[in-house]
Amino acid sequence: MQSPKKWALAASAAIVVGIGAVIGAGVALGRNQPAAGPDAITPALNAAYDKYKGLKEGKNADYIPALAKVDPDLYGIALVTVDGKVYTVGDVKSEVSIQSISKVFTMARVLQDVGEVPLRDNIGFDATGQAFNSIVAIEQYKGKEMNPLVNAGAIVTTSMVRGKTADEIWNKIIGTYDAFAGRALKVNAEVYKSEAATNQRNQAIGMLMYAYEHIKDNPLQAVDLYTRQCSVNVNAVDLATMAATLANGGKNPVTGKVVIESSHVPTILAVMATAGLYDDSGKWLAWTGLPAKSGVGGGLIAVSPGNWGIAVISPPLDKAGNSVRGQRAIADVSKALDGNPYAVSPAAPATK
Ligand code: GLN
Repeated sequence: MQSPKKWALAASAAIVVGIGAVIGAGVALGRNQPAAGPDAITPALNAAYDKYKGLKEGKNADYIPALAKVDPDLYGIALVTVDGKVYTVGDVKSEVSIQSISKVFTMARVLQDVGEVPLRDNIGFDATGQAFNSIVAIEQYKGKEMNPLVNAGAIVTTSMVRGKTADEIWNKIIGTYDAFAGRALKVNAEVYKSEAATNQRNQAIGMLMYAYEHIKDNPLQAVDLYTRQCSVNVNAVDLATMAATLANGGKNPVTGKVVIESSHVPTILAVMATAGLYDDSGKWLAWTGLPAKSGVGGGLIAVSPGNWGIAVISPPLDKAGNSVRGQRAIADVSKALDGNPYAVSPAAPATK
């Protein structure tokens, strides 16, 4: 059972005082606002950090050789609120490659540039129920009925970023990430080289999506740009700021810049909820209710819409490819802060 929502009560009270009880009584204002106020954030982060610091489950990704070398003990949590406050614990300075979390922000770029319908018609917004780099999932519906957050859909999404040359397309992609993070991000050259040398499976996926005509031309360029976008280095604060920009309807709450129109944000969050943790997305959604996205570099972001974005970096992954500490820490923090947008208390009966 949730306790009464303090912030919601405060908001209703303000309305009652400000513009009269008639309006205040009828408005279900802020029923999704968290019961836990800002003072609860630091203790929640510290508790989750301490609880999972010693956890030894999971394993770094090693199918990209450079990822196997990252320190498995690297562990940091950052939370950024929609009013731009940044809370951190642990190592939030060390950087890892963003990997699949990048898919969310390239999707944002494409939604902004071409809109929802072409993306939905070309790939779909549905769960595949398969691993992130599944070829069976492509074959099942000839590259449809999937989503921009699995490799096939992501490579197609990257191919839909507009630009005449590879450089022009790249500048749009990295420019979008920079705006979400609020600083200039850079490619991790070692990870890029390592993945480019071993991404034959993604090349095959790109060619297959070209054969099914979801990629219009130059599939290998799309795969290369996708590989580059996955190699962008980020720390936990960057990732939390990116997530908080989504929590704040597309406006970066730290820089104040509108990065994407707010009308696209519900689509992005819906796809994250559907497919952000691959074949474990349903389990995650039932656990936390939060749209989220993982990367095999060890990053995990989650969004409590209207409240905050959170990120954990911790490289050891479970079998589905999701950070073990990341999932547990975010679930705990969100529970402590009432972050689940589906968790609402029953409304008080209407009064006459
Ligand atoms: N670059 C990685 C790949 O394509 C990203 C996968 C991931 O983070 N799940 O395999």
